[in-house]
Amino acid sequence: MANGDQFIARLPAPLDKDVDFTKYFCTYAFLHNQKVVLSDSVRMKAYYYAVFENPNHFRDKVVLDVGTGSGILAIWCAQAGAKKVYAIEAMKMSERVRDVVKANNVDDVVEVIEGSMEDVLLPEKVDVIISEWMGYFLLYESMFDSVIFARDRWLKPDVVMYPSHARMWIGPIRSGLSKQQWNEFENAMSHWHDFANEMKSQYGVDMNVLLKPYREENERYHLKKSLWSNIVPSQVIGTSAVIKEIDCLTATLDEIREHHVKFSLRINLDRTRLSEFAGWFDVHFRGSTQNPAKNEVELTTTPSEDNRTHWANRLVTFLNLNSFDSMMLLDWIMEVNVFTKILCNPYEPVCPFSLC
Ligand code: SAH
Repeated sequence: MANGDQFIARLPAPLDKDVDFTKYFCTYAFLHNQKVVLSDSVRMKAYYYAVFENPNHFRDKVVLDVGTGSGILAIWCAQAGAKKVYAIEAMKMSERVRDVVKANNVDDVVEVIEGSMEDVLLPEKVDVIISEWMGYFLLYESMFDSVIFARDRWLKPDVVMYPSHARMWIGPIRSGLSKQQWNEFENAMSHWHDFANEMKSQYGVDMNVLLKPYREENERYHLKKSLWSNIVPSQVIGTSAVIKEIDCLTATLDEIREHHVKFSLRINLDRTRLSEFAGWFDVHFRGSTQNPAKNEVELTTTPSEDNRTHWANRLVTFLNLNSFDSMMLLDWIMEVNVFTKILCNPYEPVCPFSLC
């Protein structure tokens, strides 16, 4: 960045299927959570139009739905004319999904298979892979690794993936959330001093040797984490930039595991203050070069008044809140370094982002 600070974003590991059960899969075992994603109309409309406005990609095709959840995408593919749909779900939902499939009269086409995508054996290769694999800021808790696995194992050459492309965006914003985060941190620290004084005066033991690790712990908990928030366009105070583009037909895990990008942003609002960066993503349904979609569809989680999604935006704050406080950033050009890394120790509670 222009003042020499460095902005570092870290993304945690994609699923380690053995140890991440409680953190991830459990959530989708509840109908409540399936209902949350089914109620996200931005998400739903994008997939709906992607399928029904491109029937040539589905009619008489063999489709693989990775992470079928409630079965919605599998059912749409069958309704669009697929001859066979393999609907894979790791959670114990298969009986319920079968009920929904049957109630919608597509049980002759949709085969629900309970199991992890990585373990399932299919009787044939498929023409289309459809999946809603995106996590917060695209890759956080995403299941893209399973989709890559499914593609390399089960997709015939030169066929299509829904979605076909994805992008991660970053933009400078202002909000009151950094201030709130700092207040929480400072509160926690002031309680420590009261606590340490009491320990000494009441019980005769000096605990102050623990101050440094306690501070670090609280920095991690309160400051070095990203926040979930729905940003509106008026909070974006400058140009935003794509920090990562993914072609789902060709992407490898190595490509997304670590990523460094340097770019310039212009702050273009008068008398404003930069308080955070926000991250969001979009995905596109374009088919493939050989077999492009007739009607391309975009699903975006960009800051919006009316089209909010359950993913919302991911906010990264500055460790030093005052660094930009007194600056008037009109027409500032910032050079930003972003480093994203998928962390591989799922035993540790990792923050999706940290700054240094
Ligand atoms: N396709 C549904 C559900 C999306 S949520 C819809 O669009 O509404 C993602 C689903 O994928 C969850 O139900 C989750 O349990 C499942 N999932 C994640 N990783 C998986 C894997 N490796 N194998 C099978 N299912 C998986």
